Amino acid sequence: MMPLRRFTIHQPKNIAEASGMLAEFGDDGRLYAGGTELLLAMKHDLLRYQHLVDVKTIPGLANIESKNGSVVIGGAVTHRAIERSPVIREKLPVFAEMATKVANVRVRATGTLGGNLCFAEPHSDPAALLLALGAKARVEGKKGARTLSIDQLIAGAYETRLENDELLTSVEIPAVAQSQRAAYLKFQIHERPTLGLALVLEVADGGEEIKKARAVVGSISAAPARADSVDARLTGARRKVEEQLQAAAEELANVADPVDDLQGGADYKRHLVGVFLKRAFIKALA
Ligand SMILES: Cc1cc2nc3c(=O)[nH]c(=O)nc-3n(C[C@H](O)[C@H](O)[C@H](O)COP(=O)(O)OP(=O)(O)OC[C@H]3O[C@@H](n4cnc5c(N)ncnc54)[C@H](O)[C@@H]3O)c2cc1C
Repeated sequence: MMPLRRFTIHQPKNIAEASGMLAEFGDDGRLYAGGTELLLAMKHDLLRYQHLVDVKTIPGLANIESKNGSVVIGGAVTHRAIERSPVIREKLPVFAEMATKVANVRVRATGTLGGNLCFAEPHSDPAALLLALGAKARVEGKKGARTLSIDQLIAGAYETRLENDELLTSVEIPAVAQSQRAAYLKFQIHERPTLGLALVLEVADGGEEIKKARAVVGSISAAPARADSVDARLTGARRKVEEQLQAAAEELANVADPVDDLQGGADYKRHLVGVFLKRAFIKALA
């Protein structure tokens, strides 16, 4: 590992000041939260910045609140805070449970939700689950605020649709309703997830009827993947859906178009989609 090149840390007092700094520094500047991705990449000399703008000094970005049937999680909230939050555990237990399985406790204690989503590392647990839950990311910059769905935010591997002067300030996630069932399962052999499978179902008749479904597979390709046609296969009488699970998994794998990498071959990952979609279906309805 290389010694770190010299850089300056700036501590803005608010979002406007942070955005102004990013605009001023241009390609020489970058936001910094927990530093678990950024500082590692800088130590390896893969990324070089002279100015780091610390989001943790901005008031309000580490808040978690329940608002109008949703949970709003600030961009600088750590995975550990998510896992321990009474609000998230009550309103979005599936999200709290997912957070307990991100990385290890040291990374969770400093790594943030904003850093995870905005680094857009393809092996992300929160990104897949947030897409299934229909979460919206609020981003703010010099031109004002805008809201993006998770698939709009993540453009591809290590790529987001944020402008240079924009920060992710919060993520708004609809609370899981009484009529909904949600499950997230991950499979991991190395440091990062090999696959994450998120499933959110809206049910009636004690779970015998699936009124709506949203399945997302993450970590097997550049960005989390889903399709309306897959979700349609997962909708209807439970018995019919059970018969369709393999076909739905094959379609979901096709949409994701898995890549061969150190986590495994594409065919192996296609197989995992089938195994984990079936397990997630059972878990969601249990
Ligand atoms: C050993 C290890 C294991 C891991 N395992 C997992 C795992 O199992 N599952 C998983 O999902 N993830 C895993 N991760 C990734 C981990 O979740 C991220 O490292 C962490 O969340 C990044 O957050 P950070 O605050 O440290 O980001 P930083 O390193 O500070 O920043 C990362 C990037 O995000 C940008 N950024 C940060 N905050 C914002 C913001 N508010 N708005 C806009 N841009 C921002 C920065 O400019 C930078 O480009 C692992 C990481 C490590 C090191």
